[in-house]
Amino acid sequence: MLTSEELTRYSRQMLIPWLGAEAQERLKSSHVLVAGIGGLGCSSSLFLTSAGVGSITLVDFDTVGLSDLNRQVIYWHEDIGRKKVDVAAEGLSRLNPDVRIYPRDAKISESNVYDLLGVAEIVVDGLDNLGARYILNSACIKKGIPYIYGSVLGLRGAMTVIIPGKTPCLRCIYPKERVQTGPLPVLGSAPAIIANLQVIEAIKILAKRGPSLAGRMVVFHGDTMKFITLELKKNEVCEVCGKEQE
Ligand SMILES: [Zn+2]
Repeated sequence: MLTSEELTRYSRQMLIPWLGAEAQERLKSSHVLVAGIGGLGCSSSLFLTSAGVGSITLVDFDTVGLSDLNRQVIYWHEDIGRKKVDVAAEGLSRLNPDVRIYPRDAKISESNVYDLLGVAEIVVDGLDNLGARYILNSACIKKGIPYIYGSVLGLRGAMTVIIPGKTPCLRCIYPKERVQTGPLPVLGSAPAIIANLQVIEAIKILAKRGPSLAGRMVVFHGDTMKFITLELKKNEVCEVCGKEQE
């Protein structure tokens, strides 16, 4: 049940027809994992917290650096040098003390991914490399957990919702890892846009409204202000979700 304070805190979003008391209670009893709290994960964890997702696991192994502050909006100048998970947990708890934040100072690997996933029902991607995303994608397919992919480059961004058994998985979409050298360009507003699209889809799934981008990818181009939606195709012989694996 929602407390009177929660009813007030969420009163504006609860005016949305499908996000009434029952749906808000579902959010309260939900557990989401935010993988990586950089440009994407800062904005997604901020809005998952403000929306009242009851439990949020934050995974990151990095510390706050000066060059992070153009886009990682839950860290302040005085946080430079501190562990991101610690700063994030403190700040998000101050925003919404009713949400339980579980900080995990870890780099996602084959050996810890199931432990990190724990009881999470949805994964919101805030990672910056395909290698770690592949590990999470495979674990989510095996556990049947929706995986909300997001990525950003410069003024562009892309996101999709991967529903195990229904949509193409990340390996279907990106079969091969690309070589990534050096820091990539990014304007802070681009990950904020993509992260907030991820949050909208996550909340729709948790509230049983259902996602809109399952099997489709939205691509945002900041230089032309265009949103393009692409239909995604499942790879029938995908090494993660193909027929032989099922
Ligand atoms: Zn696949």
